[in-house]
Amino acid sequence: MALRKIRTLGDPVLQKVSKPVTEVNDKIRALVQDMLETMYAANGVGLAAPQVGVLKRIVVIDVTAEGNQPIVMLNPEIIATAGSQTGDEGCLSVPGKAGTVTRPNEVTVRALNLNMEPYEIKGTELLARAFCHEIDHLDGIVYVEKVEGKLHDAGAAEE
Ligand code: ZN
Repeated sequence: MALRKIRTLGDPVLQKVSKPVTEVNDKIRALVQDMLETMYAANGVGLAAPQVGVLKRIVVIDVTAEGNQPIVMLNPEIIATAGSQTGDEGCLSVPGKAGTVTRPNEVTVRALNLNMEPYEIKGTELLARAFCHEIDHLDGIVYVEKVEGKLHDAGAAEE
């Protein structure tokens, strides 16, 4: 395993649309392990493959304080949302900053696991926000495009 360099705002890779994963090989498994390690090392709650310069539809998330419930999603798609939440959001690709973003309060995602088996997962609050934020990255969207008002300095959880 290895830490990967996190790309920051201004890097064109963050604006590109990622390609679906078609097979899980050793390279993909190593990438996922590296993404988890990189996310935890940066105290993030989520990381998308384009943030480490790989244009594949892969997301890792762990919103638990203990950092022991990693969620790995290949080719994730939001299939249902409900409600709304407005709150601060940050991003490992926009270090030290946060901004107010409105997201659904409940989000259901369909994705593949590392065995290419489909599963569905429902999240609320921070987890729902993380799903939306990370899946946006796969479409070349960084949260700063959705911020209401201005970015401000912050030290909260970053995705
Ligand atoms: Zn982000």
